[in-house]
Amino acid sequence: MRIVALAGGIGGARFLRGLKLAAPDAEITVIGNTGDDIILFGLQVCPDLDTVMYTLGGGIHEEQGWGRAGETFAVKEELAAYGVEPQWFGLGDRDFATHIVRTQMLNAGYPLSAVTEALCHRWRPGVRLIPMTDDRVETHVVIEDDRGRRAVHFQEWWVRLRAGVPAQDIVLVGADDAKPAPGVLDAIAEADVVLLPPSNPVVSVGTILRIPGIREALTGKTVVGVSPIIGGAPVRGMADACLTAIGVETSAQAVAELYGSPLLDGWLVAEEDAGVSVEGVVTRARPLLMTDERAAADIARAALDLADEIRGVTA
Ligand code: GDP
Ligand code: CA
Repeated sequence: MRIVALAGGIGGARFLRGLKLAAPDAEITVIGNTGDDIILFGLQVCPDLDTVMYTLGGGIHEEQGWGRAGETFAVKEELAAYGVEPQWFGLGDRDFATHIVRTQMLNAGYPLSAVTEALCHRWRPGVRLIPMTDDRVETHVVIEDDRGRRAVHFQEWWVRLRAGVPAQDIVLVGADDAKPAPGVLDAIAEADVVLLPPSNPVVSVGTILRIPGIREALTGKTVVGVSPIIGGAPVRGMADACLTAIGVETSAQAVAELYGSPLLDGWLVAEEDAGVSVEGVVTRARPLLMTDERAAADIARAALDLADEIRGVTA
């Protein structure tokens, strides 16, 4: 079986770890969000790709959900001692090495997709991880504060401001001219099922769907999503602030409508959201808290079962 998943960071990575357990023989291709990418201290940082790579490769800081286990922060402290900005983004020493290698390869002329593949040689995530695009695409957030109305990088809004200043708009700079990375459209074309993990529907999955060609490639595919919203709240993080910014309610119902039919064929919601109903979308209620790998595997299994049901196949 060939599975494609469109993934952001923490929610995506934890779901994928369950998916590997639920479908050990499947060929899994992960299309990763790069809209959160940021250049810091001259280094290319790809938070979502790294979260997937570290989580599936066994190097993640488990409680935090991002960054490396057993991390130290000597470089960050030294940079701060020089008064170098920004100091609000947490980069550990081990993590720095990833960004140094990535930047060195990018500067040597390799596209991000090739660099990601090279980094995965070390981490062996057990999936094929491809960035959504090799082109520079950045999520910016329009805010208004005492300095006036302006756009800041997504990370500045998310990490420095902790999404505390209301976003008036979320813009994907460079999206219109971006091309899907090599392998993305082929993987979708060959997929038996496409999964939308419980990732941020605006700045993770929504971003990937904005790359010209990707949404079109999904037409005619069996697409099953898992709600990142349970009982009107994001399970962790501040995804509600992103939904509010684009005028969408924080509910499993509204996120299903945002993806909408014909893109979405199946939708898993939590048991408290069993009433969700969207025309053209088959909805099922299941426990959706990824409390551990087993729970994540059960959710992934339910998503694959729903895909089978929709395709009219008896598993
Ligand atoms: P990020 O890039 O690190 O923000 O991660 P993602 O975009 O992959 O996903 C973040 C979203 O995952 C959060 O906003 C939550 O709504 C969702 N999420 C996190 N943990 C769980 C969980 O246990 N169950 C479900 N259903 N959603 C979750
Ligand atoms: Ca992210």
